[in-house]
Amino acid sequence: MNRLDLDTLEKWYLNNFEDKLLGRRIVLEDIEPIIKTLKAPFVVRELGTSEANKNIYHITLGTGPKRILLWSQMHGNESTGTKALFDIFKYVETYKEDSFIKDLLNTCTLIFIPMLNPDGATNFTRVNQNDVDLNRDAVDLKAKESNLLRAVLNDFNPHFCFNLHDQRTIFNVEGFKNPATISFLAPSIDEPRTLTEGRKETMAAIVAMNETLQEIIPNYVGRYTDEFYPTATGDNFQKLGHNTILIEAGHYPGDYDRDIVRKFNFYAILSGLNYLVFNENYTHYEPYFDIPNNGKQNYDLILRNFLDDQNKQVDIAFQYEYEVVNNQLVSKLVEYQRGDLKEFNAYNEF
Ligand SMILES: [Zn+2]
Repeated sequence: MNRLDLDTLEKWYLNNFEDKLLGRRIVLEDIEPIIKTLKAPFVVRELGTSEANKNIYHITLGTGPKRILLWSQMHGNESTGTKALFDIFKYVETYKEDSFIKDLLNTCTLIFIPMLNPDGATNFTRVNQNDVDLNRDAVDLKAKESNLLRAVLNDFNPHFCFNLHDQRTIFNVEGFKNPATISFLAPSIDEPRTLTEGRKETMAAIVAMNETLQEIIPNYVGRYTDEFYPTATGDNFQKLGHNTILIEAGHYPGDYDRDIVRKFNFYAILSGLNYLVFNENYTHYEPYFDIPNNGKQNYDLILRNFLDDQNKQVDIAFQYEYEVVNNQLVSKLVEYQRGDLKEFNAYNEF
């Protein structure tokens, strides 16, 4: 397999990432002007509209026989994957005459849906305008947005999908205090979590992505639970025969805006594409099981040995929660747990 040269990539990234997209809340009005500037080899069209009538875009790249579908922000408040996709677009623009991008576009056809849930993005909510969680709507297909995604899946018939999400700061890498900065999942297709050929192929792509990340953020990569969710998108797409890679972007120390994590997400996606381009058989899956599981032990803030009303010493744990006020994202600390929290870590402690 051709390897990405991480030093070159790092230098390129520093000066060339999509710096028009910054911060935790990315809305349609942020990405639309950028989409309008995309020229060949990008082919842009409007896929349809959301429940509140916002545009949902569909961007195609390449003409090759391997079909890959990538979407982000099916949960409106999870924008890290979106920023990473726009970084990928800039990378393609920079290197469109170079061999890797030429190989990519000759070997693959890629379809990107960079913001599937623009209404949730505006409201900074997981759900869409009608309170539907699109990632639990793969069977009922109640939401307009779920039907648009399903229509693309059926028409395009992808071999691989990249399903891009964000996870909460609470997730650590099991056995470490490090946050799970990136977590991966090859979703199950049934309760017993059967290891089908398709799942093995999905795992093999994740193995390649994890190898890259371990070089730059060793022990900050986790594996999301593969418990079967009967109504989840990834589980259903995998079951329908489309290998679906779930990427959960998480916390990195000090990076509440997730503008450092987006780079790791960018590396992960690029490594995955690189692996799919330069391999014909995706069989090297076993090291997937060596990726540590996600833990759930990291709070944003813990006050240690706090004296409560009864003069008893307790630890109190807090998490940030977010809401949109006057079109601005504001965060507040919310108490989650109190008691003896020795087993828990915090990004800030007093
Ligand atoms: Zn999500």
